[in-house]
Amino acid sequence: MGFVGLQEYVSIESALDSLFGSGIRITSMDRVSGGDINEAYRLTLTDGKRIFMKANRKENMPFFTAEAAGLAAIAGTGAIGTPGVLCVGTDEEGAGCSFLLMEWIEGNGRVKDYWEVFARQLAAMHRAETGGFAVEGKFGFSNDNYIGANGQANRVCGSWIDFFRECRLEPQFKRASRYFDAGGRKKVTKLLERLDDFLVEPEHPSLLHGDLWSGNVMTGNDGKAWLIDPAVYVGHAEADLAMTELFGGFPQIFYDVYREEAPMQPGYERRRDLYNLYHLLNHLNLFGRAYLPSVVRVVEKYIA
Ligand code: ADP
Repeated sequence: MGFVGLQEYVSIESALDSLFGSGIRITSMDRVSGGDINEAYRLTLTDGKRIFMKANRKENMPFFTAEAAGLAAIAGTGAIGTPGVLCVGTDEEGAGCSFLLMEWIEGNGRVKDYWEVFARQLAAMHRAETGGFAVEGKFGFSNDNYIGANGQANRVCGSWIDFFRECRLEPQFKRASRYFDAGGRKKVTKLLERLDDFLVEPEHPSLLHGDLWSGNVMTGNDGKAWLIDPAVYVGHAEADLAMTELFGGFPQIFYDVYREEAPMQPGYERRRDLYNLYHLLNHLNLFGRAYLPSVVRVVEKYIA
């Protein structure tokens, strides 16, 4: 599904013509490494301008409309930097591919107090009004999107705990069911039934990045942290914080300042692994059995 206001083009040339004026062409196209899902390129144009392009197979266009909607939502909070989306399109020439064009992030050095500023800006994003993304006071998002290459359902829901059960853990456990024997499945069912014993409803809903690990944070063109590659939805801000801790974590000063700006409800440390279980399950489903021991460890931490 597209979103209102986003132009969809039928070729990269027509996109460039209409974005930058006719006659503007690509003079070089350099592969950018680092992504898991898409091919990424730095395009240099005839006027010297640089833009960033992600490309994928034609049928994967929904990845890009979802990513564009996520970046637009983050930008819409006005709280934190994110690259400006230029357009999406399908290049009908040859085999055809779908593409997403956005602002090129040069990343020339960081501001002083980079991590403190990042923490304040993330807290501000988590405080932003969410009525434009889901119904006011509720959880979910206006459209479904992706977490890595897996679909992520975002049905709007009045309870965070129900949302996390029905739209996050349950679908991933279903996809992963072949990894569990009868005993394991029983524990998973029990965990899902007892989620209210472990999680809490937030004081207010927050727009989340949804896949907030260090690979999805870049030093932006203003020297501050910019968010890329989101899997946005409205949820409990703790879930974003938990994800930052899953693969190594940010410097302590980031967490200290975040907590000063947005005090956390007591017991976050007891909930953290349960939030991250979603991402571990997603990794199990995307990348295979190597993630099974971590998944089992978390399930057994909560359900002995
Ligand atoms: P994928 O969707 O395949 O996971 P990413 O969004 O992670 O791709 O992007 C791939 C890499 O491209 C990132 O690791 C980052 O280094 C770089 N990158 C992402 N967005 C931009 C941008 N707007 N400008 C410059 N480089 C970018």
